[in-house]
Amino acid sequence: MSIDLEALYIDLHRHPELSFQEHRTAAVVEEHLTTLGFEVQTGIGGTGLVGILDNGEGPTVMLRADMDALPVAEQTGLPYASTATGKDPDGNTVPLMHACGHDMHVTALVGAAETLAESADEWSGTLIVLFQPGEERGGGAQQMVDDGLYDLIPTPDIVLGQHVAPLPAGYLSLHAGVAMAGDDSLDITLHGVGGHGSRPETTVDPVVMAANVVQRLQQVVSRDIAATDAVVVTVGQLHAGTKNNIIPSTAMLGLSVRTFDDHVRTKALSSVERVVQAEAAASGAPQAPDVNYTERYPVTFNHEESTERLREAFTDAFGAHKVVDIGVISGSEDVSNLSLAAGVPLVYWFLGGADPALFEEAATHDRLPTDLPSNHSPFFAPVLQPTLTRGVEALVTAAREWLY
Ligand SMILES: [Zn+2]
Ligand SMILES: [Zn+2]
Repeated sequence: MSIDLEALYIDLHRHPELSFQEHRTAAVVEEHLTTLGFEVQTGIGGTGLVGILDNGEGPTVMLRADMDALPVAEQTGLPYASTATGKDPDGNTVPLMHACGHDMHVTALVGAAETLAESADEWSGTLIVLFQPGEERGGGAQQMVDDGLYDLIPTPDIVLGQHVAPLPAGYLSLHAGVAMAGDDSLDITLHGVGGHGSRPETTVDPVVMAANVVQRLQQVVSRDIAATDAVVVTVGQLHAGTKNNIIPSTAMLGLSVRTFDDHVRTKALSSVERVVQAEAAASGAPQAPDVNYTERYPVTFNHEESTERLREAFTDAFGAHKVVDIGVISGSEDVSNLSLAAGVPLVYWFLGGADPALFEEAATHDRLPTDLPSNHSPFFAPVLQPTLTRGVEALVTAAREWLY
């Protein structure tokens, strides 16, 4: 009896769950994996789970999917559109939607697990299917690693995964080397000395300190980073004070720093920290600033040799015209935390999910960015087929390239 994957996708789409709250999704996956004969371990790093199929001598391959949804009110008008709500970490009721296609990732991986389990006489090795929580908040993969993932399961020889993207359904994109940006989120608290707004000489004003920090941070990219390296430093939050005639005692800054290279990342972050500390010292701050790294996405680096090997496998399986290279993406992913912790290669590809006719119409009129809803949009609606079937086939083809 085979799994009705389309029904599974629709079910998951109707029941989205926020990051680190993927209890129902994990339970649904657990049931399928158990039925398929996988040895299942649940509750890794919260709701994360892993299924292992030990099928004799040979390599160990990890296939990964992320499970979480987003606080977005779905406006696709699809018959199976989500009307679900949930509670965000602050306790607010928020609308929920699988606006990044993680429901497609989960369904395709369950489908691949089924295909590979049923064809186990054709290959040898160990298959690991991993379903991680909290990709959208950047910490899910690392949380599984920190919870002892690699003490619980064999170390894979390679990590493989995919993400739905606004490419025509049926197409796959592979890019060797740096494929996606790294992103670091920093919360910074500047400490001053509060007091009366009429007597600044009795205070150390954190508002002025914060203003200087924001200005000075703009020089990190323009003065510290080479013109050939891409970095974005954004101050997305700036909070201080309660009343016009009170000088507050602290100010808070929220930063996002995007980079495409680990050395550049290290340099940019050390420049940011230097500026923050030095401005506080220059202001006579009574205490050094607190710098907390909240979300972290490493640069997604596709192992070159493995990527080219997989490109050949995809080309053989689906035809050269279906396998493209859309280049480097400025978005970020935390899948690398799984491969980095194991010290093994990663290959992460994009799975086309856009309606091919809509894509062609938009491309013809040079309106791709405006006419094709991107991930995280309330209108994001991958076509169910052939996206799902190609997603299963891509995972199976990739796994079988290493498991033979
Ligand atoms: Zn996303
Ligand atoms: Zn995503």
